[in-house]
Amino acid sequence: MNTLSNGIAGRVCIVTGGARGIGGAISTRLANDGAIVAVIGLPADRDRTESLRASLNGSAENVVFYEGDVGEYERCTKAIEAILQEHGRIDCLVNNAGITADHTARKMTIDEWNAVLQVNLSGPFFMIKAVLDAMVAQNYGRIVNISSVVGLSGNVGQANYAAAKAGLIGLTKTIALEVATKGVTCNAVAPGFIATEMVAAMPPAAIERAVASTPVQRLGQPSEIARTVRFLLDEEAGYINGAVFNVNGGWYM
Ligand code: NDP
Repeated sequence: MNTLSNGIAGRVCIVTGGARGIGGAISTRLANDGAIVAVIGLPADRDRTESLRASLNGSAENVVFYEGDVGEYERCTKAIEAILQEHGRIDCLVNNAGITADHTARKMTIDEWNAVLQVNLSGPFFMIKAVLDAMVAQNYGRIVNISSVVGLSGNVGQANYAAAKAGLIGLTKTIALEVATKGVTCNAVAPGFIATEMVAAMPPAAIERAVASTPVQRLGQPSEIARTVRFLLDEEAGYINGAVFNVNGGWYM
């Protein structure tokens, strides 16, 4: 049994790519609920994390930035070592960082394939591998992987992204099996089309089509993903393990 209070307050939570978009909303939600949030991100995210801290009311000191590229295992382990040294434990890991490099399979370059698999699938594995010993040693951990609706449905022009996000679901279920007896749970959230820069980069006609084909007829908000992640990270969510939560307005059921 750990000695921390129920819920999330005081928990040390890592959010990769946690300075903007969905990750920014997750960091904000966790910090406002009293967690210590370790944002792991690329160099540009240091300034973005500062802006995020400035937007927080009274909980800015709960957010700390650690530089790290999730696609490089050694940089993941370095960031984890620094977090452990500073905070003594790691309770939650949210694998949120992700990229796209869209082309139909016939036009997709091998570099585009490799880059997306490296960040979106190897990255979460590297991060999980880097935190698991600490979580198992403290007999407590909550891992949430941000997959995608297209990992379930497939999507034209996203062979690399859809394959990585589908693979992330297999990774989620395997970790859920491997460490369940050690107090560590692992779940996935599969968002639909969420209003972030990633979606803003899509052609306007494609966004219109996405909205039109979504039963609730709108894009999702980053805060709506953050709310689901927050729920799964709670100490009291310990019986939810290996699950995939669709948060997509009904776009895929
Ligand atoms: P954004 O592009 O807005 O943010 C992605 C974040 O990941 C950025 O902070 C980015 O850093 C960071 N990042 C990228 N590569 C790395 C890396 N190698 N190491 C560390 N950090 C990195 O994306 P969203 O907020 O839209 O998406 C967040 C997650 O949700 C992603 O995994 C995405 O695939 C998933 N998702 C998003 C959906 C959507 O509709 N928006 C739908 C379904 C899933 P930087 O700012 O420096 O580029």
